[in-house]
Amino acid sequence: MNCAGMWARQVGQWAGVSVPLHAAEHFYIVSEPIAGVHAGLPTLRDPGGYTYYREEVGAILAGFFEPVAKPWGMNGIPANFEFTRLPEDWAHLDPVFDVMARRMPVLGTAGIHTFFNGPESFTPDDAYHLGEAPEVKNFYVAAGFNSIGIQSSGGAGKVLAEWIVNGHAPLDLWDVDLRRNQPFQNNARYLQDRTVEGLGLLYDMHWPFKQFKTARNVRRSSLHDRLAAAGACFGSVAGWERPNWYAPAGVEPEYKYSYGRQNWFAYSAAEHRAVRENVGLFDQSSFSKFLMQGRDALAVLNRVCGNQIDVPVGVVVYTQLLNARGGIEADVTVNRLDAERFLILDAAALQNRTGPWLQRQIQTAEFATLTDVTSAYTMLGVMGPQARALLSQVTSADLSNAAFPFATSREIEVGYAMVRATRLTYVGELGWELLAPTEFALGVYEALLEAGRAFDLKLAGFHALNSLRQEKGYRHWGHDIGDEDTPLEAGWALR
Ligand SMILES: Cc1cc2nc3c(=O)[nH]c(=O)nc-3n(C[C@H](O)[C@H](O)[C@H](O)COP(=O)(O)OP(=O)(O)OC[C@H]3O[C@@H](n4cnc5c(N)ncnc54)[C@H](O)[C@@H]3O)c2cc1C
Repeated sequence: MNCAGMWARQVGQWAGVSVPLHAAEHFYIVSEPIAGVHAGLPTLRDPGGYTYYREEVGAILAGFFEPVAKPWGMNGIPANFEFTRLPEDWAHLDPVFDVMARRMPVLGTAGIHTFFNGPESFTPDDAYHLGEAPEVKNFYVAAGFNSIGIQSSGGAGKVLAEWIVNGHAPLDLWDVDLRRNQPFQNNARYLQDRTVEGLGLLYDMHWPFKQFKTARNVRRSSLHDRLAAAGACFGSVAGWERPNWYAPAGVEPEYKYSYGRQNWFAYSAAEHRAVRENVGLFDQSSFSKFLMQGRDALAVLNRVCGNQIDVPVGVVVYTQLLNARGGIEADVTVNRLDAERFLILDAAALQNRTGPWLQRQIQTAEFATLTDVTSAYTMLGVMGPQARALLSQVTSADLSNAAFPFATSREIEVGYAMVRATRLTYVGELGWELLAPTEFALGVYEALLEAGRAFDLKLAGFHALNSLRQEKGYRHWGHDIGDEDTPLEAGWALR
């Protein structure tokens, strides 16, 4: 059990377990006693001023979540640092002090009794780390409490105890599950850069679709620069920069956050319509991709998949990976490449969950291996009623319904490349997902774009992908379904 607070990253490394967190300096002040201040006063939070206030022995304690934090402990946390204080830094807090004095003027004159600066650990997404490590069975983690470790401790302790006893989370805890992190996130520079933003996020406005500003451009598809030049506004998932929507010429590809319709709505709607009525092109390279192979691969998959996987070579099965309780561990497609080789596709965010989970399903006596091949392929989705007509321009393969039925897959030539084409989409339209070995992807993209001119091909982003799949009632793991739901509860029995 690794509950070593800000030392947890180092402790994890001893066991080969990634616990991405970084310390930041965290401040509060306590005023001199103030007449009339008593223990019955409520706690006051001022998110706009990045400050909270509460009574502390007849005085006011004001704590800060300043928007630009100070990472600390870049060279590792000293082993003997427990309960030690860091130096005061008045200049750093100057901007929030000004707001504080306006919000609670008495603090401008009361005098400051204590200036406290202590380190606290922050995680890349400001959610804490709970649960079993994907790397090591029975290695549990509770760390990275992002300055709410005291208030969270009761609940965190309860669910973790049940998690350890039962071997699975007692409720949907995906938001704080250690497995949501990717191995790269343990990179020290990444953590330091992200921590600058992390502390203040707690009090920042939680806009829908809000994107991190720091530590971006970590994972980029081989088409990234082309898509950026085409106006892509990127969002970050599992470190991947993914085009969420495309800004037309003259429009900045930037989010303008709002609780109403945001600035991208009309552009995404046009992408949505293009896919529904004509043809669109998605860069889906971020999807997780796993190769399960070996003479027992079929047996392993048939044990954990809700659907029959023993299908003819070239058939793709949309299915769920089920745990022993019938809960949905993942929502995937399984593509039978040959008798003993299966390509499994899952969402980007689940790479570090589905891969290790599948790996653990291979029993000791079984002859099967699982390889993460996510980085090997760039994935392009050609989707919409005109997908066949467009794709036919760049391949000699017969794409007719008879020759290339729904839910089948095969290698086809596109431009100079050999590409695995799978006739399946997440948008509920005619379409193909094309997996091109990464170094061939630009050529495939160029061929599609050139042929696409005659079809008014539109680049489409993940917001459109999401609205298209929602319109068709396609579930999304983590939003609509999770490991607490069975396929029957998810409504699949009726389909
Ligand atoms: C200024 C400040 C104000 C805060 N205010 C609040 C607040 O108002 N409300 C709130 O909820 N939270 C608050 N917090 C955050 C809260 O204190 C932390 O989130 C919480 O203490 C974290 O608990 P933890 O058990 O994860 O880590 P810790 O409390 O740091 O405990 C980790 C323990 O692991 C031990 N350890 C490390 N390495 C090893 C090893 N190799 N072997 C054995 N033991 C080891 C350490 O000695 C330490 O005792 C505040 C933090 C700060 C700095």
